[in-house]
Amino acid sequence: MKKNILVIMFILSLVMVVSWSGRSDAANTRFYTIGTGGVTGVYYPTGGAISRIVNAKKNDYNMRLTVESTGGSVYNINAIMAGDLDFGIVQSDRQFQAIRGLAEWKDNGAQKDLRAVFSIHPESVTLLAGTDTGIKSIRDLKGKHVNIGNPGSGQRQNSIDALTSAGINYKVDLKAEGLKAAEAPGVLLDGRIDAFFYTVGHPSGAFKEATAGTRKVSFIPIVLPDSFYLNFPYYARSVVPMSFYPNAVNDKDIPTFGVKATFVTHSRIPDEDVYHVVKEIFENFEDFKKLHPAYSVLTKESMLTGLSAPLHPGATKYFNEAGLLK
Ligand code: GLU
Repeated sequence: MKKNILVIMFILSLVMVVSWSGRSDAANTRFYTIGTGGVTGVYYPTGGAISRIVNAKKNDYNMRLTVESTGGSVYNINAIMAGDLDFGIVQSDRQFQAIRGLAEWKDNGAQKDLRAVFSIHPESVTLLAGTDTGIKSIRDLKGKHVNIGNPGSGQRQNSIDALTSAGINYKVDLKAEGLKAAEAPGVLLDGRIDAFFYTVGHPSGAFKEATAGTRKVSFIPIVLPDSFYLNFPYYARSVVPMSFYPNAVNDKDIPTFGVKATFVTHSRIPDEDVYHVVKEIFENFEDFKKLHPAYSVLTKESMLTGLSAPLHPGATKYFNEAGLLK
C-alpha cells in the first residue's frame, strides 16, 4: 500500500514537472506581429515568407512571428511606433519621410525609434485604367474617377506626387477615391471607377485579378521629367513587366517609377531577436527567394540598400558577421 502511494506520488510529481516546464517554455515564447498590406499585394505573402523561414526555428529561439493584413506602409509605421505591431513592411520612401518627420509625419515629427532591418523587393507605382475610358497618360486622368489609395497606404502619397507633377490637383481636378488596394480591382471591373494607382511588387494578386475580368484594362505609363526625380530623391525610374499579366491589352513593358519594400521595426525589440530574424532570412536566402517571383532580382547586397532609418543593432550584428557591411 505504502509502496503504491509512493509510486503514485512519484508519477504525480513527474507530471507536474513536465507540465510546468511546458508552461514555462510557452510563457517564455516571444510573439511578434508583422504588419503587411492588403491580401492581394506582395507585402502579405512577404510577411508569410519571413515568418515561415524564421518560425522553422521557433523552438530554438523561443520566438514566433505572426502576420497581419493592414492598410499599408503608413499604417504599419504608426502601429509600430504605438506598440501595436512589432515589425512591418514599408515603402523605402515612407521610411525616409518617417525618420525625418516629413509628409504624413509633419505634425508628429521624426519617428526616432524606427529601425531598419533589411530591404526586400522593388515596387512600382502602377496605374491601371479601363481601356474604354480613353486614358493613355497620367495627364488624361483630369476629370476622371480615380482611386489614389486609402489613407494609411504608401501609394496614396505616390499618386499625389505623380499627379501634382503632371499638373493635376487631386482635390479639384479629379474625383479621387480612398479605397483599399484589395477593393480597387473589383470596383474598376464593375465600372465604378475609371482607374486606380497601386504601389506594389510584381506580379501581384491585385493586378492578376484586375486583368482577368470582362472589362478590358490597360497599364498606363507614368513618364515624368528629370525634375521629379531631383525633387524626390527616393524615387527611381522602373518598369512593370507585362509578362506577368498576359490578359492586359498592353504588349510592351510599362515605364513608371518606384521604390523598395523594406522591413522595419522599433528600437525596443531585443537585439537577439532581430539578429535571429536576419540570420534566418540571409542563411536560407535561396529558399526565401523561391517563395515569391518578385524576389527573383534580390541579392544579399541589394537587401542593404534603400534604408534611411538607423539599422537595428541586431541587424548590424549579423551584417558585420556576414561581412556585408563595408
Ligand atoms: N506599397 C503598398 C503600401 O505601402 C503595399 C503593397 C503591398 O501590399 O504589397 O501601402
